[in-house]
Parts: sequence; C-alpha cells; structure tokens
Amino acid sequence: MKINLKIKKEVISKSQYMKYYKKDTVVEFCKACNNYMKNHSCPDFDFLIEDYLEPYDRMLILLTEIDSKEIRDNIEYFKGVVYESKEAKRYGHDGDFDSQFINFLSVYIFEKTKNFMSKKILKYEDQVKGALGLFPGSCSLCSVCEKESNKPCVYPDKMRYSLEALGFMVSDFYDEVFNQEIIWSQGELPSKFTSCSAILFVRDTHIPEGIFEYDEIIEL
Ligand code: SF4
Repeated sequence: MKINLKIKKEVISKSQYMKYYKKDTVVEFCKACNNYMKNHSCPDFDFLIEDYLEPYDRMLILLTEIDSKEIRDNIEYFKGVVYESKEAKRYGHDGDFDSQFINFLSVYIFEKTKNFMSKKILKYEDQVKGALGLFPGSCSLCSVCEKESNKPCVYPDKMRYSLEALGFMVSDFYDEVFNQEIIWSQGELPSKFTSCSAILFVRDTHIPEGIFEYDEIIEL
C-alpha cells in the first residue's frame, strides 16, 4: 500500500551538532539494547568517534513522518502485512499477536522507513563528493550480524552508523532543530511514526537541493 512520507530537513553547523553529542549518556541506552556489541553498526567501536566526525563541518538532518491516520484507516490491511512480516516473525508473534500488534507495527514501519531512507542517502552519497550518511537505527541487512561471530561486516559499503550509535542524543534534534517531541507508541497508535537520519559534509561541499523532497510515497 502506498503511504505518504513527509521529510523535514535542516542543515546545521558542526558547533550546533556537537551540542547534541552526549556519548557517555547515550551509550548507557545502547547498553540496554540487544544489539549492543552484537552489531557492527552499534557500539562498542574500535575507533574514536571524535576522529570519525572530525572532517565533517555540517550536517543535514532528515526527519521523516508518517501520519498514522492513513494507517488507522487501513488497519485490517496492516494487521495482515505485519503478521506476515519478518519483523513480527523475528520477535515471535505466536499466541499474542493482537496484544503486541502496535509494537510489531511500529518496528515494521520503522524498518520500511529505514530501508527507504538508506537507499536515498546512499544515492545522495554517490552524487555528492565527501557526503557520509547516518541511517536511522541499527543495521539489519543480515538476519544475524557477523559481529556475533566476530567476523567482519559483509556489506561495509552499505552499512552506516546511526546518530544514536555515534553518541548523539536524537531527542535533542527533535526538540531543538525541529521544535517537536519524539512520539512513542506506548500501546496505542501514535499520531505519527517518525525517524531521524542525517548526512555529514566535509568543508566547502555544495549541498544540492532536490533529492530529498518534502513529500514522498513509501510502499508499506
Ligand atoms: S551488513 Fe550484516 S554484517 Fe554488516 S553490520 Fe549489517 S548486519 Fe552486520
């Protein structure tokens, strides 16, 4: 089903984006996640994040929004596709699918949005020399990340880190760049499904307009 995806965007300077760099606080959230030390896109890293960020003096922040009215209007369709989705199967939906439907739906929409934005960001990297994408959430290209077996990443050309993995407090981008709060599902359909990604730019890069339209269509 085709659903509208709104993309808000802002370019901020390094001095602004480093205000939201709170590695010591954010890594404590990461430690509570199943991917911590089990996914190459997640901490703990064998490099210094400050060194990784050093060449980049601007950041394009991309905030995506899907209005849940379209989801609500087609809820039976979504119950079907989410039940069959790999996201619901991965977390085990036997027996209590209905009671966990909102959680499965949130993960399903997040993964679809992540894939959509990741492809667009990689395309943008191809077109803009020195641009480096930061995807929403952890990498899920493989069903089990090779890091669990202490093997190298199989798609290093496609894997990117997320803002939170690099130690940024993503809620600060919502609050201070877009003047809005992160909306959590908390057992009910949220008013919007959102995600945050970014692109870093080296000094003096021309940032072209056009590839990220304000309104896109996503297949859910
Ligand atoms: S591409 Fe595969 S091995 Fe690499 S980070 Fe993603 S899930 Fe892990």
